[in-house]
Amino acid sequence: MPISYNTLMKNLKNALLLKQLYQLKQLGYKYTSATCYKEEEPDLTLPNTLASLEKQAVECHLCELSKSRTKVVFGEGNTNADLMFVGDAPSNSDDSSGKVFTGRSGDVLTKMIENVLGLSRADVYITNVLKCRAQNTQNPSPAHAHTCHPYLLKQIELIKPKLVIAFGEMAYHYLTGDDSEISQVRGNLYKQDGYTILPTYHPNYLLRNPSAKKEVMTDLLKVKNLL
Ligand code: SF4
Repeated sequence: MPISYNTLMKNLKNALLLKQLYQLKQLGYKYTSATCYKEEEPDLTLPNTLASLEKQAVECHLCELSKSRTKVVFGEGNTNADLMFVGDAPSNSDDSSGKVFTGRSGDVLTKMIENVLGLSRADVYITNVLKCRAQNTQNPSPAHAHTCHPYLLKQIELIKPKLVIAFGEMAYHYLTGDDSEISQVRGNLYKQDGYTILPTYHPNYLLRNPSAKKEVMTDLLKVKNLL
């Protein structure tokens, strides 16, 4: 079952509440009354333009990744794209530059877009579930991803792509709520509200397992036919 936007906003509210409690603890408070937090108090409505949403993400301190990041990596590309790529988290080079999918995995993605799909990076939109670099990029924490992924859902709502390529298990999970292994679901089409998701292997996985390129090529040719 896909995770609803309301559930996501509830997660975001909980994250904000935890942050407030943590700040109070740092100020020396040991006890506080739960009634001082009214449900309707925090305005967590995400902005309705990509520029405002990016501004909010750039200033976001909702999870502890804000302490270790160098730059927020919001995403980039055609804001009216039919095709969107979603990875898991920024790499070290993304974190330094603020640009999405740079470095070796970015080169793999660029080749997929240009050589297989016959498009350019400027034709599509590219982002991640997490907008800040995880300390261990191999295994970003589910708590961080839960807090961050309303930004991703809002990006999808505003861009309105027809097709979303989910790179790897984490992106697939946070877009669909399904915990299946990527090898079980790759290449399948999953209808969401207004768009379709196609999961496939992450470019990083291809760098470690070049033999999987054949399967990704099959998935991308399916994407090309759908476009
Ligand atoms: S990872 Fe997401 S939720 Fe956490 S600080 Fe960055 S933008 Fe905010």
